Amino acid sequence: MFDNLGKKLQSQFRTLTGRGILSEKDIDNTLKDIRLSLLEADVALPVVERLLTNIRQEAVGQKILSSIRPGDAVVKIVHDNLASLLTTQQGLSAKEKLLNPKTTPHIIMMVGLQGSGKTTSTVKLAKWLETHQKSKTLVASLDIYRPAAQDQLEIFAKKNNIDSLEIIQDEKPATIAQRALAMAKKNDYHYLLLDTAGRLTLNKQLMDELRELKKTIKPKDIILVLDGLSGQSALPTASGFHDPLQLSGALITRMDGDGRGGAALSLTAETGCPLWFMGVGEAADKLEIFDGTRIAGQILGMGDIVSLVEKAQIASDEDDMAEMEERFKKGIFTMMDMQKQIRQMKKMGGMKEMLNMLPQGLLPQNARQLQNANLDDKIFARQDAIINSMTPAERIRPDIILARRKSRIANGAGVQLADVNRLLKQFITTQKMMKQAGKMNQTDMMRQLQTMKGQRHLGIK
Ligand code: GDP
Ligand code: MG
Repeated sequence: MFDNLGKKLQSQFRTLTGRGILSEKDIDNTLKDIRLSLLEADVALPVVERLLTNIRQEAVGQKILSSIRPGDAVVKIVHDNLASLLTTQQGLSAKEKLLNPKTTPHIIMMVGLQGSGKTTSTVKLAKWLETHQKSKTLVASLDIYRPAAQDQLEIFAKKNNIDSLEIIQDEKPATIAQRALAMAKKNDYHYLLLDTAGRLTLNKQLMDELRELKKTIKPKDIILVLDGLSGQSALPTASGFHDPLQLSGALITRMDGDGRGGAALSLTAETGCPLWFMGVGEAADKLEIFDGTRIAGQILGMGDIVSLVEKAQIASDEDDMAEMEERFKKGIFTMMDMQKQIRQMKKMGGMKEMLNMLPQGLLPQNARQLQNANLDDKIFARQDAIINSMTPAERIRPDIILARRKSRIANGAGVQLADVNRLLKQFITTQKMMKQAGKMNQTDMMRQLQTMKGQRHLGIK
């Protein structure tokens, strides 16, 4: 039933716009604008070229939502590509990697060019660690080359109630690092943050010193501090540090400035190094977890179009929802309706993530159990597959699904018989509720549905 309606709407739109997939001409025209946009955001040229080639390949022949302009669809594809490049990191996230250290002190070495924001960021990170986890952090400056660099760290740390290693004149960086480590061990610090010296440009002496420090001090993490406004030079800087040191993450500073964050993109594209943090101001609390989607929007500078396309996508979802509500009111509920619900849940990232977003204090007892129950969002995918394995007749009248049909469906979906049974049971309960729904007022009904949907999908009785 739904399929027919969908097809009808689609064909209507198709006659309106006269096209259902992206043509090469649409793509080429839009990519020209996007190329400019990326260059203006100071994304390094080789990165721009590589990106556009990939995006072009992906966009050719892609189906587009019928209610939007083809060019806008390309912008959205580009945006999503940038966002995923900036967010899907092979490594662990900053929280996973840095919080709850297995061994203490967890040593973090901050590296980067002079003026990139290392000293400031060292204190910011110490502050961040203390806020996210009751921890004791010691910071120490190994920058003996720049006058007053050590004092700068000490002063900024003190101002923010972070402990810093006492300064002894004329000590070599390696000696300072050893002394800091001994001090951190003796006084049970959880973290030791080493602020290293930088140079105006990459040079061998700087790298040799850092490499030597890495060998002797064995930091758990090396974080590159990169100036968000560094433009084209971000590319050689990124690989200049990554190749010899194998960075574990990056912190991009000055994301509060005029720059559009092209440096961030050049860095991930070149090294694959995960972007952990962004500095958004000079004060010690101006450090945030890196937000790839937001930066993708900034880089592209076409936020209006992206949100327009998103709205169109949401509207098409909402049309579906409104349709479904109408049917509920009439007491109609089939497997197709259930499948829509499941897909909606899947799209929302599943229950687990939703629960994780809530503050702990707000969660009811059983929800917290859920959170710990190692919930598997794959459950939605499995349920979706089960319904896909049903014949159209079975989807409309699941009561005809008896033993032999059940095995066939289980085989087809690659699941256990018990999974099919569970889904059918869940369906019957939901359907029963739908039958009563006509008598209820609509808000009550939707609320009950929401609660039940959540619990049932999670297999809670
Ligand atoms: P270092 O030479 O790498 O140690 O750099 P510093 O930490 O001394 O920072 C250089 C300048 O950049 C200082 O004036 C900082 O206040 C400023 N700075 C650092 N991070 C940020 C940031 O995220 N936003 C802004 N606006 N300024 C920053
Ligand atoms: Mg410094």
